[in-house]
Amino acid sequence: MATGARGPKTIVIGGGVGGLILAQGLHAAGLPVEVHERDASPRTRTQGYRLRVSPDGERAMRECLPPRVIELLLATSNQRHGEGLLAFDEQLAPQWAPAFDDPRGSGPDKIDAVDRVTLRRVLLAGLDDVVRFGRKLTEVVETTGGVTARFSDGSSATGDVLVAADGANSAVRTQFCPHEQPRDLGVRTVFARLPMTAVHQAGLPAQLRGEFSYVIGSDGHHLGLMPMVFREAPPAAAARLWPGLDLPPGEDYYMAVLNVHRDELGLSDDEFFAMDGRALARFATARMSAWHPALRGLFALGDAADTFAVSLRASVPVVPWGTERVVALGDAAHTMPPSGGVGANSAAWDAALLTGLLRQVADGDIGLADAFDRYRTGVTEHATAAVGLSLKIAQWSIRKIDIAMPAAEPGKNSANSAPAPLH
Ligand SMILES: Cc1cc2nc3c(=O)[nH]c(=O)nc-3n(C[C@H](O)[C@H](O)[C@H](O)COP(=O)(O)OP(=O)(O)OC[C@H]3O[C@@H](n4cnc5c(N)ncnc54)[C@H](O)[C@@H]3O)c2cc1C
Repeated sequence: MATGARGPKTIVIGGGVGGLILAQGLHAAGLPVEVHERDASPRTRTQGYRLRVSPDGERAMRECLPPRVIELLLATSNQRHGEGLLAFDEQLAPQWAPAFDDPRGSGPDKIDAVDRVTLRRVLLAGLDDVVRFGRKLTEVVETTGGVTARFSDGSSATGDVLVAADGANSAVRTQFCPHEQPRDLGVRTVFARLPMTAVHQAGLPAQLRGEFSYVIGSDGHHLGLMPMVFREAPPAAAARLWPGLDLPPGEDYYMAVLNVHRDELGLSDDEFFAMDGRALARFATARMSAWHPALRGLFALGDAADTFAVSLRASVPVVPWGTERVVALGDAAHTMPPSGGVGANSAAWDAALLTGLLRQVADGDIGLADAFDRYRTGVTEHATAAVGLSLKIAQWSIRKIDIAMPAAEPGKNSANSAPAPLH
């Protein structure tokens, strides 16, 4: 293997949450790394949503990211408004209000939640020479001496190892492991970003303001409202901490999530996923038409460009895949529903583990085969617990999902060290 003094050269496919955290970790360690991302530029993707950061996820990010990037992340993270979650029925009668135990406490340096668009741009800080945009992977070719990624623009990149960080619909997984696709949970979800000021002006009752709230409809539909209040406006934080870094405006918002089982859509999947943001907002509004008046019009307050639909899927079981030179990270390795807010945290966890192991390879402490063995074992165990947690919360919070929860494995609950709020 062409492991020079600086270690194996890593080609990362996908510049999302996991791929960029890995790139930051390897770059900070002085190891050669290139990220190839299909988006044309960092500004291509604007659909933002709130990402909860778990204790494990924060720890992994702090392990990989240079202090200045962490400072920027903290400055642009969610200003916390309390612990726990408030649940209501559709007429806003309080149901229950669990508090969540977080070993981090509520200290000023805790990164509790972030905005995904801002996170991705923050993670690009200092990686100008590392990340190449407009590179959509079409094929991976392995040789005895290395591994080459080919892209749709005709270009290619060669390294010693390739990391598939290309998300839940991973092209690398489809090439190497076409039968291991995540399973459909049958739940269709509409996500929207609702400007906080507009939501308050529209009369959101005081008890829901700034709170993580959940409305459980007797019709089987479920609405989540999660506040994202930036500690500091991202452009101001960038000007202070990383002048020249292009961060989005960062208006405070609620992430709104409406879950509907496909049997209750009244539409085919093709029709549902063909809807644009405006049509999805109308769909959600119609579903909430008999709910409390303060809730009915919420989805109409979102920007159509930020309203989108996903189907919830999960890797059950988590099956490790790859080759001597190819490993997977994040959603490409293990997909899970957003419930519990563990997918991005798991991607960060994977990135921290892989960074540490590739550093050991570079130092000559272990061989690549040993590193990949340890990586796959660790990721499979951790992700199995994470998928189990997200399914457990999905089953608890969504009336009907299509697969049974995998049996709990004793002692394998390391995905989160604290009970997690749901999405
Ligand atoms: C609405 C919503 C809310 C969520 N909330 C939370 C939460 O609170 N907490 C949490 O931990 N998780 C949450 N998740 C899950 C989380 O977003 C994912 O688990 C996480 O983004 C996975 O990171 P990743 O790097 O594996 O994949 P991604 O972040 O999806 O990145 C994959 C990247 O690969 C690129 N790519 C894809 N195909 C190719 C190709 N062929 N060539 C080159 N590049 C390619 C994509 O453009 C993308 O940039 C949420 C998900 C959703 C949808």
